[in-house]
Amino acid sequence: MIPAATQVLHRLGLGSVLDAFMDAQPLKHGIRWGSDWNWRDGDHASPRLKRDAFDAALTFAAEGAGARVVRHARMPEFDGADARTIVVRATGSATWARGKPDATIVEQLPETVALTARTAVGDGPRDASIIEAVPQGWWWWLPLSDGDVLCTLVADAEEVRKASPASVFASAVRASEGPARLLRAPAVAGRVATAWRRRSFAGWLVGDAASRLDPLSSQGIEKALASAEHVAAGVSRVFEHPEESDSVRAWLDRWDAGLFAAHARRTLAYYASEERFADAPFWTRRRAAYAEREAPTRTVEPTTRLRRAKDAIGVDDYRLDDDRLVPQKAWLGRGARTAVAQLSGIAVARWWELLADGRTVEEAVGVARMHPVFGTQSAAGVARQFAEMVRLGLVDAE
Ligand SMILES: Cc1cc2nc3c(=O)[nH]c(=O)nc-3n(C[C@H](O)[C@H](O)[C@H](O)COP(=O)(O)OP(=O)(O)OC[C@H]3O[C@@H](n4cnc5c(N)ncnc54)[C@H](O)[C@@H]3O)c2cc1C
Repeated sequence: MIPAATQVLHRLGLGSVLDAFMDAQPLKHGIRWGSDWNWRDGDHASPRLKRDAFDAALTFAAEGAGARVVRHARMPEFDGADARTIVVRATGSATWARGKPDATIVEQLPETVALTARTAVGDGPRDASIIEAVPQGWWWWLPLSDGDVLCTLVADAEEVRKASPASVFASAVRASEGPARLLRAPAVAGRVATAWRRRSFAGWLVGDAASRLDPLSSQGIEKALASAEHVAAGVSRVFEHPEESDSVRAWLDRWDAGLFAAHARRTLAYYASEERFADAPFWTRRRAAYAEREAPTRTVEPTTRLRRAKDAIGVDDYRLDDDRLVPQKAWLGRGARTAVAQLSGIAVARWWELLADGRTVEEAVGVARMHPVFGTQSAAGVARQFAEMVRLGLVDAE
């Protein structure tokens, strides 16, 4: 788990669950990406959770807080809800209804599989998780507290389909310069690990059910907790204001889409930074996805003329304040996933006012200098926010 996830749990008052089920000794983190090895230690070390016990403790905490828990039960298919019932699906990446899926994938990164071997640590390191890029994908060495290690190859699904899991796994063992080269055990488990985002026709989606991040991020647990926090606040808002059901769901969808997009951009940029295996299928496909997503940024010069984008639309938006949703008006630019209410703490409408019917960047900066609302903004800061508004489709640059 990444260190940031512990902050979410502390904020939710679940610090004691962490203390009980986290290994006393966090793992060092070694990365072989490009030609160098990098090590993260101290505050950047990864806390290691006893996952089954941790999940059970969270369920117990939910029960203590008033949730009715039905153990060892499989939720039946749910066709839809009446106006007074909200169905929230926290079912991970499983599909809900066989043969009649109620959720559809709306975007995804290149298809990925995780091939895992579990074996004794042997001569490999016990105190470090290690990520190592190889032509077939990347290795993830993860020692467990019981003396075993989970050694996972994250590989390209199409390459694995064309060859076979065993042959891709064996080639990657031969290519490793890290502890994976010591592996003698075959892969025993294969799991789809493609990053995607879904939309549901019936229920509300939480965590992996809404979107699954690429395993490289190691942020699935943190994201699932934050997602649960947002959805819980959304449900609570709709109980009090049933007429807002559609706008709350739309807000949650934008929240998840924005988070997914930010993760996808970071993950694909990191894949693109490994240049040693640029011709291998795993890396070629991810590099292509990076190029596809990375829209060329429009540079904004001092003499560029800017206007308010005519097709930016106003939406009913919310912000999370502690555990409650506070309604706010926000603006959604062309092609943008996230609606924006403010930039640098100043309402979008105020930024537009600086442009009147069209001004160059330097003219708008001059107006801002005389405007009390923009008093704390530097000239460079104002220009930067306009570049951001162009990127978000809120301002057109001529
Ligand atoms: C190879 C791999 C490695 C990963 N490593 C990390 C990591 O190091 N750190 C990290 O933060 N994240 C990691 N993740 C991601 C992380 O595990 C998930 O993002 C996280 O578990 C999502 O939590 P969730 O509660 O949404 O879903 P899940 O943890 O999948 O929980 C969903 C639960 O719902 C149950 N369920 C499904 N359908 C039904 C039904 N009909 N009725 C009743 N119950 C049902 C399932 O059995 C399951 O218990 C990894 C993922 C993969 C694939």
